Amino acid sequence: MTPEGETLLLDGGRALGLDLAPHLPAFAELLRLLQEGNTRLNLTALKTERDIVLKHFIDSLSCLRGGDLGEEGLVLDLGTGAGFPSLPLAIVRPGLDLVPLDSIGKKIRFVEETALALGLKNVRPQVGRAETLGRQDEHRGQYDRVVARAVAALPILAELALPLLRVGGRLVAQKGPITDEELRAGQRAAGEVGGQVQAVDPFELPLSGDARTLIVVTKTRPTPAKYPRREGVPNAQPLF
Ligand code: SAM
Repeated sequence: MTPEGETLLLDGGRALGLDLAPHLPAFAELLRLLQEGNTRLNLTALKTERDIVLKHFIDSLSCLRGGDLGEEGLVLDLGTGAGFPSLPLAIVRPGLDLVPLDSIGKKIRFVEETALALGLKNVRPQVGRAETLGRQDEHRGQYDRVVARAVAALPILAELALPLLRVGGRLVAQKGPITDEELRAGQRAAGEVGGQVQAVDPFELPLSGDARTLIVVTKTRPTPAKYPRREGVPNAQPLF
């Protein structure tokens, strides 16, 4: 990582209340592996150091705002892609046990190899669809948190994520700006699958100024057995 990249990372971290100085070597290696992996696998549209530092690393770490992800516990990262937000979170929160989930095998293989190369023992990648895991005993109702960055509209996310949470667990969804309509539909969908929208936190990303929203949904009762519906249905026919 160049000195400019390090400064961006440290400044962005400071704006989020994080001291990233001890983690510079890990982020530099993650940057190197991501750029190298991108040439082979076309993993992410973000290719420059500046974009990766701001729009992957700092953006992912902004999921820690508000403290809803906590310092420990079992966290499923629904639709992790090339490992975001899981990998940055695993670096700065060693007490979190992270399960990055994606339906695309090549992405999860990259996350697996990268976690191994970085020596991250708190990352257990998983290939599959949230709808499938949500119906398996080993995953349904097992997670303390589900985090999802830029994956789907809130009503879809609620149906995919809530079955995986234990009662009392939380979905932390990071999105761009959210419309009143999506929020209302998300509130109704959350109610249908056993949850309640707890917080809506609009903010600007440090340095880039991009608009983001963190939405926290708490699971208040068990999800009815009919959810999640079969693969693809939550996307094709959102609950609301
Ligand atoms: N979270 C990553 C990020 O912020 O860079 C990736 C975001 S990408 C736009 C959405 C990812 O979610 C894709 O990699 C896709 O394969 C995955 N995905 C979408 N629906 C899914 C589902 N039902 N189960 C598992 N993965 C899913």
